[in-house]
Amino acid sequence: MEDRPVTEPAPGWVRIRVHACGVCHGDVAVWQGAFPYTNFATYPRVPGHEVSGVVDEVGAGVEWPAKGDRVGVPWLFSSCGHCRSCCRGDFVYCKDTEVTGVTQDGGFQEYMLAPASALSPIPDAIPFEEAGPLMCAGLTVFNGLKEGGFHAGDKVAVVGMGGLGHLGVLYAAAMGGRVAAISTHPEKEDEAKNWGAELFINATFEDVAARLQDWGGADVILTTAPSAKAISQVFPGLAQRGSCVVLGPSPDPIEVRPGLLLNGNRKLTGSTTGSREDIRRTLEFAAANSIHPTLTRFKLEDAQAALVAHQTGRLRGRAVLLFD
Ligand SMILES: [Zn+2]
Ligand SMILES: [Zn+2]
Repeated sequence: MEDRPVTEPAPGWVRIRVHACGVCHGDVAVWQGAFPYTNFATYPRVPGHEVSGVVDEVGAGVEWPAKGDRVGVPWLFSSCGHCRSCCRGDFVYCKDTEVTGVTQDGGFQEYMLAPASALSPIPDAIPFEEAGPLMCAGLTVFNGLKEGGFHAGDKVAVVGMGGLGHLGVLYAAAMGGRVAAISTHPEKEDEAKNWGAELFINATFEDVAARLQDWGGADVILTTAPSAKAISQVFPGLAQRGSCVVLGPSPDPIEVRPGLLLNGNRKLTGSTTGSREDIRRTLEFAAANSIHPTLTRFKLEDAQAALVAHQTGRLRGRAVLLFD
């Protein structure tokens, strides 16, 4: 922990009084200098890309937001605006992207500076502590379902019941899906069923793919555990024309038998984060459908304990730092 002066926002930027900041897999990787940010993160760095707070000061030329507005700062801090990815609207795939808490200082601080163009409004119905996790983990599963071609009534298998996975269950159930929860932690069964899963599969002792096929096969699989082995194991549980969407990184290769792709048009794809429009939809859907992430709360001064808890997988739901 260190004291720094509170500085004025540059033209086009705002200063935010941070109220809450989620703690994410990305923060652990930045903290440890680990994959997938080995050659990407710059140091020293204030982590945190799930930032929510109130605009405290605005720089010259800012038309929105105004002082006092509730806003969030997501993963995507800025992009070049003119490369092929940006022109297509895929700002997060810009090769010159700046990332909150990775290449720019993030939300593990009481006051944060950010360009107005990076911000998203937070609906009044969403508390600060829930906004951060919804803007990152919620956004990731919301877009993952879209990428997987999800329709109401589809069977959705969610691999991993951590911060990302539990939101996968909540969103898929609220969007009209039937959900199977897959975890190596049998003690998560009751919670997974409370979040909306109808089926729980213990990945340590059970044949995950066979259980899914007995269920009729999954139309969409969201893999949130950062494990290529878990993805290889679950893939044969897909229904014909189903999609397996990778949401958690792993340095190892995935094994898939080509026959499963050829015979039944199964797809293996991936999805990461999303646009500011996607963030608005994710937050508005959560507000309209009373989606509330399960949180484990920490104070700012206990940020290191939060990172350690995240790394060891011993958290309930999502970790969030509170500043009040
Ligand atoms: Zn995150
Ligand atoms: Zn670009």
